[in-house]
Amino acid sequence: MASRFQFNISATDGAARTGMITTPRGEVRTPAFMPVGTAATVKGMLPGSVAETGADILLGNTYHLMLRPTAERIAALGGLHGFMGWDRPILTDSGGFQVMSLSGLRKLTEEGVTFKSHIDGSKHHLTPERSMEIQRLLGSDIVMCFDECPALPADRERIATSMELSMRWAARSKQAFGDRPGHALFGIQQGGLEQDLRAASAEALQEIGFDGYAVGGLAVGEGQEAMFGCLDYAPGQLPHDKPRYLMGVGKPDDIVGAVARGIDMMDCVLPSRSGRTGQAWTRRGQVNIRNARHADDPRPLDEECTCPACRTYSRAYLHHVTRSKEMIAGMLLTWHNLHYYQELMAGMRAAIAAGTFAAWQAQFHALRAEGDIEPL
Ligand SMILES: [Zn+2]
Repeated sequence: MASRFQFNISATDGAARTGMITTPRGEVRTPAFMPVGTAATVKGMLPGSVAETGADILLGNTYHLMLRPTAERIAALGGLHGFMGWDRPILTDSGGFQVMSLSGLRKLTEEGVTFKSHIDGSKHHLTPERSMEIQRLLGSDIVMCFDECPALPADRERIATSMELSMRWAARSKQAFGDRPGHALFGIQQGGLEQDLRAASAEALQEIGFDGYAVGGLAVGEGQEAMFGCLDYAPGQLPHDKPRYLMGVGKPDDIVGAVARGIDMMDCVLPSRSGRTGQAWTRRGQVNIRNARHADDPRPLDEECTCPACRTYSRAYLHHVTRSKEMIAGMLLTWHNLHYYQELMAGMRAAIAAGTFAAWQAQFHALRAEGDIEPL
């Protein structure tokens, strides 16, 4: 097993790349999709089942874990990997984004952010230094810089001010992270949809120097066209030889478009969250299993899928347990969705390696355009 964090690109096809991140906890095949384990669990899934879908790495949320059960408690119990029963790599976010999106009253200063917990209203303080400490206590393999991310649309001045603050916080994050062999620290590019601000942010981050770079501040309400417009240049502003991570993305077609533009890593709650509301993602697009058309349908959700939901159960059964609010409904649909997402990543990795990614994308879009199978 490697003692250091490494990234190697084995093939490129256009702007798309495929390769491997190596950490002491294991290897991550890229492009990689990271399921989200918000509160030290991927909801409805055992860790072994998550691994079985093909996931090499999970994402944990600093904001949630610092509030409950607290980073200190997890550290005392041996760290996040042992606590949640996942021995492969874990990436943790910095907490900054969720402070902005979830917490109540908050106050932003040069020092950091003070906020009230969404759980019990208790007051907390998060700074670059405290975020690094929490992520170290959790035992995260890939640590994210503490940053500030404005919701879009926002005016240019607000985006510039926020980006500059995030760059000062990135320098403080690096300082506080220190030298931790085998663990990686990623910088986060900001700058909204402004190309020159993105370039300035990329330059500032590279002067500090990181093990990987995230494109931050997207998937915050700008829409796919604007996001792709930004991804046409943003990944190219970051170092070629380091992993590039697009945070919080997305739907299957967002993911494919991001990989085509040079992104190596992504995370999103969508496959697990939508699995709990009766939504399935398949090669033919989105299926709402709650719809009455599935009530008598003996066919699997996707006849080519090898997940337990498709191998064992009919659409009629999935419809029934979803409508009846049985626990197994969310479990099966989450399993299917995570399996589908990992199949998608595996397909892209193989196509990039073979130099056939353009044809693969055409097939991906053609099948989705056909839509779900005809009702019986
Ligand atoms: Zn399936």
